[in-house]
Amino acid sequence: MNQVVDPGDVVVDATVGNGHDTVYLAKLVGPQGHVYGFDIQKAAIEHTATALENAHLQPSVTLTHAGHETLATVLPADQPIKCAIFNLGYLPGGDKTIITHAATTLTAVTALENRLATNGLIILMVYAGHPGGQAEAQALHDHVTQLDQQTFQVLQYGFINQVHQPPYLIAIQKR
Ligand code: SAM
Repeated sequence: MNQVVDPGDVVVDATVGNGHDTVYLAKLVGPQGHVYGFDIQKAAIEHTATALENAHLQPSVTLTHAGHETLATVLPADQPIKCAIFNLGYLPGGDKTIITHAATTLTAVTALENRLATNGLIILMVYAGHPGGQAEAQALHDHVTQLDQQTFQVLQYGFINQVHQPPYLIAIQKR
């Protein structure tokens, strides 16, 4: 992310959770940039708001207690998005039944593809090992593999020597 995101950029944390990525992104974009963060869990939004306040980063961040599928109604229409991060699945240490789902993830990813800056990046950390995870991973795979290669570069990174279903990363970059 730090190779793509510059001070002043507009970026998205699509799955705020404990706010680690939100805080990291807010530091990268600085006071002239902005982070839009989304989570369906009130506790995640509150926890992250406190972390941002403690780090004096809250002016650079808008937190929305709603699903990332609503992002088109929250993001400014006229500002290209430099980077968006999705950490899919459930919140570690939280309620494992609250997970991201294929339909809403794809709604958000598609909306972001239309708003991505040139060289902008959507990063998805994909977990397929929990109930529901495989269906989401498959739907995402089906979507990204049909993206026009003239417009997007899509890469997948993952462990190839781990047992079970290790997480992997999908990166969608606008050309
Ligand atoms: N990046 C986070 C961190 O640094 O702690 C971890 C994110 S956790 C793997 C996934 C998060 O996605 C959970 O907090 C969950 O509430 C949230 N989530 C589930 N469905 C969502 C949706 N439709 N929109 C936004 N967030 C969602």
